[in-house]
Amino acid sequence: MADTGQARAEMVDRQIAARGIRDERLLAAMREVPRDLFVGEERSAHAHDDSALPIAAGQTISQPYIVAAMIEAARVGRDDRVLEIGAGSGYAAAVMGRLAREVHAVERLAELAELAAGRMAGLGYANVHIHQGDGTGGWPDAAPFDAILVSAAGPDVPQPLIEQLAPGGRLVMPVGGGHVQSLVRVTRDAAGAVAREKLDDVCFVPLIGAHGWPER
Ligand code: SAH
Repeated sequence: MADTGQARAEMVDRQIAARGIRDERLLAAMREVPRDLFVGEERSAHAHDDSALPIAAGQTISQPYIVAAMIEAARVGRDDRVLEIGAGSGYAAAVMGRLAREVHAVERLAELAELAAGRMAGLGYANVHIHQGDGTGGWPDAAPFDAILVSAAGPDVPQPLIEQLAPGGRLVMPVGGGHVQSLVRVTRDAAGAVAREKLDDVCFVPLIGAHGWPER
């Protein structure tokens, strides 16, 4: 078998650290989580490529650098309770599970949610909880969250997600309808006031749901 630990170390050095991600805990988590197990067997040879890859059901696993950039932008910390909308393969949720206290990740498509949950069980990542459903309403049962990552692009930041942000919380999400969207960060300060800033241009699959795009 190929040495995937070596492949991951090179992925982190060349694609992530070399592009300016400095958070050592994040780099360590990405060296640790076996990305090849998340991409599906037929594409595992490309698991450490510098690109997004197709997974089941017409969806994608994000490019490693984008996963790192979003997690860094959300400043995911050790004691945090984290929500991800758009679990997909479960890869980003798994990485955040290594960094934070608890992760809840919601996936709309049952097929993907089941695969992702199976991966967490297989890896023993017991603090990562995969839920199936429309995540545009957030996950009220486990709210509030210190960090929220939305891994699909919506018409705007869903109001329920802003409401489920704890004081001091950070939400990172691509917003826009075209091929290129804006990565946006919403922060709630200790007094509860909400601020919003634009980060980078990104390219994500659509967020489909009650507070997202309508299903076609
Ligand atoms: N973070 C993922 C990438 C996921 S791609 C990874 O690491 O693999 C985006 C995912 O968002 C897709 O799987 C898509 O089905 C899901 N999605 C789209 N709309 C959604 C919604 N309303 N609620 C939950 N998941 C949604």
